[in-house]
Amino acid sequence: MAQGLRVGVLGATGAVGTEILGILAQRSLPIADLRLLASPRSAGQTLTFAGTPLPVQAVSAETLQGLDLILASAGASVSRQWLPIAVQAGAIAIDNSSAYRMEANVPLVVPEVNPQDLKDHQGIIANPNCTTILMTVALWPLHQVRPIRRIIAATYQSASGAGAKAMQELKDQALDILKGNPPRTAAFPYPLAFNLFPHNSPLNDQGYCQEEMKMINETRKIFHTPDLRLSATCVRVPVLRAHSEALNVEFFEPFPLAEARNLLQQAAGVAFVEDWERNYFPMPLEATGKDPVFVGRLRQDLSEPNALELWLCGDQIRKGAALNAVQIAESLIAQGLI
Ligand code: NAP
Repeated sequence: MAQGLRVGVLGATGAVGTEILGILAQRSLPIADLRLLASPRSAGQTLTFAGTPLPVQAVSAETLQGLDLILASAGASVSRQWLPIAVQAGAIAIDNSSAYRMEANVPLVVPEVNPQDLKDHQGIIANPNCTTILMTVALWPLHQVRPIRRIIAATYQSASGAGAKAMQELKDQALDILKGNPPRTAAFPYPLAFNLFPHNSPLNDQGYCQEEMKMINETRKIFHTPDLRLSATCVRVPVLRAHSEALNVEFFEPFPLAEARNLLQQAAGVAFVEDWERNYFPMPLEATGKDPVFVGRLRQDLSEPNALELWLCGDQIRKGAALNAVQIAESLIAQGLI
């Protein structure tokens, strides 16, 4: 293991990038040098890391030299342009974008689920889609004991999933509406404040949006179950931060409720939250800024003996992106792969 890593954060000024900086400051990844990279628009800005001001530099072949590790969250086209150059220059890249996730030679990793896949990396490691990470952390402990046959997911996705500008847009729209003005839209196609709409990613000719297909394809890759049956409906809701998901999970046999609850109460990365008397279950507001995936409202599906219903909330900028990426780096160190 390197004694101290020379780490680059590409997309350092964005929603995920700033969260990565906060998480790096809190955890114990050994960092010898930290380089903040973004677009030329941000060059010259200063960001604070662990109390120290650091300059933001424009990403270029020069600013990618001499890194051991690069954590990228600047979008798929930026990753495609710059990560091969960073890897060629000697870095291992952990990418938050969708650019490389489904490539056969790129591990797609949730450290609580498939850390062993990291050993096959060839320079680039992909961080899964945020909604997929939250779902796989919650379902893996069950799937390991009694394999899952089919998942039906409905998601309730916050504005922050679309980045820092989308969060600000939701706040501005709420103010517009409360002042009696028409809400302005730019990051989203429709007003999100006091509204919701099916996920705004491109639709395929079968009627599924890209976010739904990511949940399907990425879960199969992470679980190593190419035949897993999964369907999803993804929806944007006027929540600032933290996604929620309602999951109907069918197994090949009945899954006793007490056993499932016990497994989830002990699962890595899961906080099991249920108070049936108070009707108190996970909420995005309470998941915001927190590390675990909050799971609760676990119950037998009344319509299918082999199925359970559950509800989860998780901070998708944190566990759904930044934290998962840093945990991948920690797992690389623990496995002696960097
Ligand atoms: P964001 O808030 O819009 O931030 C985008 C970042 O990328 C900014 O730092 C921006 O720098 C940088 N960037 C944009 N164009 C660039 C270019 N040509 N060259 C270099 N840097 C460039 O977006 P985000 O929400 O953080 O998302 C970033 C990535 O993470 C996306 O691929 C997204 O799909 C993925 N992701 C996001 C979430 C989430 O919950 N938000 C979850 C999982 C994965 P400037 O400030 O200089 O423009």
